[in-house]
Amino acid sequence: MNYKEFLKKFPDEKSIIDYFIKIRYPEGIKCPKCGNTKVYQKKARPKVFDCNFCGNSFSIFKDTVFEKTTTDLQKWLFAISKFLNAKKGVSAKQLQREIGVTYKCAWRILHQIRKAMAEENPQGFANGQFSV
Ligand SMILES: [Zn+2]
Repeated sequence: MNYKEFLKKFPDEKSIIDYFIKIRYPEGIKCPKCGNTKVYQKKARPKVFDCNFCGNSFSIFKDTVFEKTTTDLQKWLFAISKFLNAKKGVSAKQLQREIGVTYKCAWRILHQIRKAMAEENPQGFANGQFSV
């Protein structure tokens, strides 16, 4: 799948967030502080949820490569799917061309993905459930 085809499947940030929620929270989202399941997605910031019980606000991307990024989530998800599906690996140059970011940015994305995959208890994407 190239980036154009990928964008048809994931046309906006919200579609990425919905997809991510399905992977990371297969049993639904819970407040990390009190365990309450009545949580509400913020309209203006869909990656942030508010707990109805304790008032805690939390990001569904906590402890993932998405947490502090300023790069589009679509680019991230595409890079991850590329990374997981490429038999011979992905080069920063290749990624740079496909998603239209600087070489430095592409390099950083790949570096972060490799790091996340290598962690002992990876959260989110490194658990083999991820495929686009
Ligand atoms: Zn709570």
